[in-house]
Amino acid sequence: EAAGLEARVARTATRVARRLIAVASGKGGVGKSTVSANLAVALAKRGRPVGLVDADISGPSQPRLFGVEDAKPDAADKRMYPVATPAGVPIVSMGMLVPKDQAIAWRGPMLAGALGQLLDAHWGAADPLILDLPPGTGDVQLTMVQKHRPAGAVIVSTPQDLALIDARRAIDLFEKAGVPIIGLVENMAGYACPHCGEVSDPFGSGGAEADAARLGLPFLGRIPLSREVRAASDAGTPPAAGNGTDAAAFDAVAQAVDD
Ligand code: ADP
Repeated sequence: EAAGLEARVARTATRVARRLIAVASGKGGVGKSTVSANLAVALAKRGRPVGLVDADISGPSQPRLFGVEDAKPDAADKRMYPVATPAGVPIVSMGMLVPKDQAIAWRGPMLAGALGQLLDAHWGAADPLILDLPPGTGDVQLTMVQKHRPAGAVIVSTPQDLALIDARRAIDLFEKAGVPIIGLVENMAGYACPHCGEVSDPFGSGGAEADAARLGLPFLGRIPLSREVRAASDAGTPPAAGNGTDAAAFDAVAQAVDD
């Protein structure tokens, strides 16, 4: 009995010690999952024993991004084992808790339970855990900040004003809960034309950096809108695992987060 209690206390202690880094966005489709995956890969390349939790119920895409779409996690003691991925980042996903192609239509308590299950997986020495949140400011985010106390949050936005307005709401949620904002990442910035090389800005330019400055938050870097990012992501091979210019952009963000 006493030994059992000791083990539980030890487990609680390791859980508290493990840092959670939440990756959030105001809107969907701005590349939050892409940035989460590649931030994790870039941190792993820097020697961090990082793991990734896909809590994006609106579209759990991490199994696809890591090329382990059909993997089913093992479990022991009613706790999941994270799925190993070729890129070297163990992952768990909301998508692994429900049959494929089925809507995840859970209310608050169910969501909270599912999130708890993902965070309580057999993570071993993994630290930090990158947490891919759903877009916006819903139940998962509230449970996250109230119950699991992330060490910090990374906000992803496109340069576009609309996305930034919503990002500011997400920032507000973390700040009210006392979760430090690690900084802002601008995704889908400058597009280099593959034919003529001219760089254009389909979603505007510099909006996130200007916003970060205005809000007094660190700017963590800019990820270009790139065909390679899209293609590598669709192929289940995170671009940060390679060594092209996109990988360099993700490395710079990882370094800013790591500092
Ligand atoms: P979110 O998690 O915010 O909904 P995703 O990460 O799923 O967004 O990205 C949405 C789509 O945009 C995906 O098809 C993804 O491959 C693509 N995408 C994301 N970032 C980039 C980028 N920097 N360059 C090109 N395509 C991107």
